[in-house]
Amino acid sequence: MGRLFILSAPSGTGKSTVAGKLLQQVDSLRRVVTATTRRPRPGEKDGVDYIFMTREEFERGIKEGFFLEYAEVYGNYYGTPRDQVERNMKENVDSLLVIDVQGAFRVKEVFPEAVSIFLLPPSLEELKRRMIARGYRDSNTEVRLEMAKKEIPCARFFDYVIINDFVDRAVELLRSIILASRCERERVLGRLDALLHSEDVLSLLKGGRCYVKEA
Ligand code: ADP
Ligand code: 5GP
Repeated sequence: MGRLFILSAPSGTGKSTVAGKLLQQVDSLRRVVTATTRRPRPGEKDGVDYIFMTREEFERGIKEGFFLEYAEVYGNYYGTPRDQVERNMKENVDSLLVIDVQGAFRVKEVFPEAVSIFLLPPSLEELKRRMIARGYRDSNTEVRLEMAKKEIPCARFFDYVIINDFVDRAVELLRSIILASRCERERVLGRLDALLHSEDVLSLLKGGRCYVKEA
């Protein structure tokens, strides 16, 4: 079964940048394209960057249970389509959710086994610089900075915390978390037939006894 990785951070920290590079380096990992009612920014494509919806479409989606979670962020709805996550799970592909802090907590409630990772900016000054560098036309830097001050303390509720000082370093750490989580005992032992081709090791793992604990 594919697993869920939640990447969350205050807006402008670098989630999208880090996620984009990560996806080039890790196989069997798909970014879930989330839905939003905000207008596309120049260069953003429907179905690639977001699924762009009207408020009416989004509210119908909420009623019909289309979203695994949704939140109102800076005056717009954002939501994670349930179908993509379920399809990835069935296809044994891991899902990467790049979502805000509220969404991360909701997904953890529904899927407690999801792995949550909080990306921290190196400083508030640098966060502001990144927000300005990205050149939002539709956003208010001061509002996002005030929100960041409320979001940063949430890091202590996440499974992992990474400081995004340098993109390549943050990507390396994130990649390590994903690869290590794929080696967790239950995940390996539960798929032995697919992973291991040695009959003798297989039969020892399945039928043998641990000489220290089970003598
Ligand atoms: P988010 O998805 O968290 O809102 P973005 O990925 O859009 O943030 O990044 C915001 C801005 O910061 C972009 O201009 C991006 O190029 C820049 N950025 C991201 N990570 C770093 C970093 N480690 N060092 C310097 N600039 C960065
Ligand atoms: P932006 O408008 O800058 O693309 O995104 C604003 C914020 O909404 C970001 O923190 C982004 O990660 C978050 N976001 C994007 N998609 C979702 C989603 O499906 N659910 C939630 N809860 N937040 C999302």
